[in-house]
Amino acid sequence: MTKRIPELYGSLVFNDKIMREKLPKDIYKALRKTIENSTHLELDVANAVAIAMKEWAVENGATHFTHWFQPMTGFTAEKHDSFITPVGDGQVIMDFSGKELVKGEPDASSFPSGGLRATFEARGYTAWDPTSPAFIKDGTLYIPTAFCSYSGEALDKKTPLLRSMEALNKEAVKMLHLLGKTDVTNVSTTVGPEQEYFLVDKELYKQRKDLIFTGRTLLGAKPPKGQEMEDHYFGSLKPRVAAYMHDLDEELWKLGIPAKTKHNEVAPAQHELAPIFDTTNVAVDHNQLTMEIMKKVADKHDLVCLLHEKPFDGINGSGKHNNWSMSTNTGKNLLDPGRTPAENTQFLVFLMAVIKAVDDYADLMRLSVASAGNDHRLGANEAPPAIVSIFLGDELTEVLDSIENDTFFGKHQKVAMDIGATVLPHFFKDNTDRNRTSPFAFTGNKFEFRMLGSSISVAGPNVVLNTAVAEALSQFYDELKDTPADQMDDAVHELVKRAILKHKKVIFNGNGYTDEWVVEAEKRGLPNLKSTPEVLPCFIAEKNIELFTKHHIFTETEIHSRYEILLENYCKTLHIEAKTLADMVKRDFLPALMSYSDTVTSAILKKKEAAGFACASETKLLTKLSGYYDAITDAEEKLEEYTEAAEGIEDFQAQADYYHETVIPAMEEIRSYADAAESYLPDEVLPYPSYQKLLFSV
Ligand code: ADP
Ligand code: MG
Repeated sequence: MTKRIPELYGSLVFNDKIMREKLPKDIYKALRKTIENSTHLELDVANAVAIAMKEWAVENGATHFTHWFQPMTGFTAEKHDSFITPVGDGQVIMDFSGKELVKGEPDASSFPSGGLRATFEARGYTAWDPTSPAFIKDGTLYIPTAFCSYSGEALDKKTPLLRSMEALNKEAVKMLHLLGKTDVTNVSTTVGPEQEYFLVDKELYKQRKDLIFTGRTLLGAKPPKGQEMEDHYFGSLKPRVAAYMHDLDEELWKLGIPAKTKHNEVAPAQHELAPIFDTTNVAVDHNQLTMEIMKKVADKHDLVCLLHEKPFDGINGSGKHNNWSMSTNTGKNLLDPGRTPAENTQFLVFLMAVIKAVDDYADLMRLSVASAGNDHRLGANEAPPAIVSIFLGDELTEVLDSIENDTFFGKHQKVAMDIGATVLPHFFKDNTDRNRTSPFAFTGNKFEFRMLGSSISVAGPNVVLNTAVAEALSQFYDELKDTPADQMDDAVHELVKRAILKHKKVIFNGNGYTDEWVVEAEKRGLPNLKSTPEVLPCFIAEKNIELFTKHHIFTETEIHSRYEILLENYCKTLHIEAKTLADMVKRDFLPALMSYSDTVTSAILKKKEAAGFACASETKLLTKLSGYYDAITDAEEKLEEYTEAAEGIEDFQAQADYYHETVIPAMEEIRSYADAAESYLPDEVLPYPSYQKLLFSV
């Protein structure tokens, strides 16, 4: 019998409850202080925590520990050390020290560093992040850590995230104090990422090189039925999928990951999982773990979980919605519109700060979700456009209009009003969440950033969001700081009015999928950065370097190194895709086409010989097959030529541009012929399972 859920939940996590039980009181207090106020942790505290952690881990079956970190690959990394320490005469004890808990030294020469770390100083350090709880997985104690170089440069996704949370904390607390909320000492950002994914049968998956090497299908004719009936969305779960989701929930719950919602998505074989939100740092760690466990549990069920942004052409890809807000240590969600005028003032300041942030740094927001995989989604008519805009909903937009025009908000009355920010009634969450085409939507008490691809670490987008909002708050603070307290409401009103005028161009409540919006957005001067190579250079734009260095998120060197890593990653992805496609075409698809042509040819010959038939239809088919054979052969030769040319380009930006402008179209050309040819091939001739089988067999 399985345990009851409350006992199961978090049973493999060294959480606050366990810490309180296992740690001496003073040690527990010191650790809490470190967690809550980011203060330095003394070695004697670390030693005591290490002992308790090890005891708990060993009691729960762990034999090893690992510093778990998030290098720039976007995956997580770990190196396992056992707890055993020899004590003479061939005996060992299970040992773990504070030093081992706090700091690790993995050999890090093979992780991407964008030239930051010369090989002679290939050492990297991992440092314990006590704000994200340790946990046990597969007999190992996992300690979440940040990863940096010998000279302290960040080599991972966690370090800048923690820095950005601190920047936002600092600016938000300053602003709240200015607005009279002096009881607040800490503001943290919260994130709830909704994760989409596909499930396919493992045996079928194994027969597709493209899925194995690139995570997506590079060839494949569309099935007769796709998602047009929308009968899969929220449909009842098939038994195999339900069993998978059940196991997945249990595994996640054991690790204290609050998986909450699960349902079928729009595309066939597509599903979604959403957890309850948490502080950003924990949410990021949890999402990384979730993606890993989704794959592992799938394997147990003879399924494969595809996290690629666009595994199948012609049906929806997978995204990840990043629900984001800010909350105070006093338990207040800063994006929750309050009921009283004072709360309104505060809400309007923070709401406006987010709008300003997204408008001022739209390019960085777009950058934060850029990848070769996500390029297939953004701007296609299924996912948000590549243009960053904000959906506020009619009601909130009207509120801002009324402030801008000094009219009174409510039932469309246009009455001149007393100055003051008493215009915001409590409105209902449901009124705001109707638009599904917006990249960045206000959904009642949080914003939902919808441009993320399904496989991305949510760290990057939150670094940008946190930092840009910190900057907006810092500018607002400068505008307000000399205002006497009794004039604050009016000053805020004027500030919000100025900000609306400046930033309302980024607000768009209409349908983001239409061509009219693209035209309108251009008129408004909003950037429309369609591809990854096009958007990456904005990382090193002066205004963005200024933002990141001012708030101590990245040094200029770190920015350049990350820009290089992103370019390199894009080029490598395309390189692997081009090579895989060439291989599939030459060694699998063309031979299959040839063999079917042979079959048709011998049928023609036999018929002609036996009965003197003209064989007009068969000959027509043969001509078609031959035509495709020639076209694919030519296109494949071109692809190989271009891929080789790409490899020869030294400058990463130029190489990325070349892949985008030359190699991708060559791949698409092959695909157009091959998919057309595929529709003539019987299943037994096709060298890999068709879309039909992949999408409709689970
Ligand atoms: P949907 O977007 O599907 O309508 P919800 O709006 O209920 O679903 O929630 C989506 C996600 O937003 C969930 O993961 C939820 O935990 C998260 N969420 C809710 N409140 C907040 C918040 N204050 N900060 C961050 N995420 C939140
Ligand atoms: Mg949502």
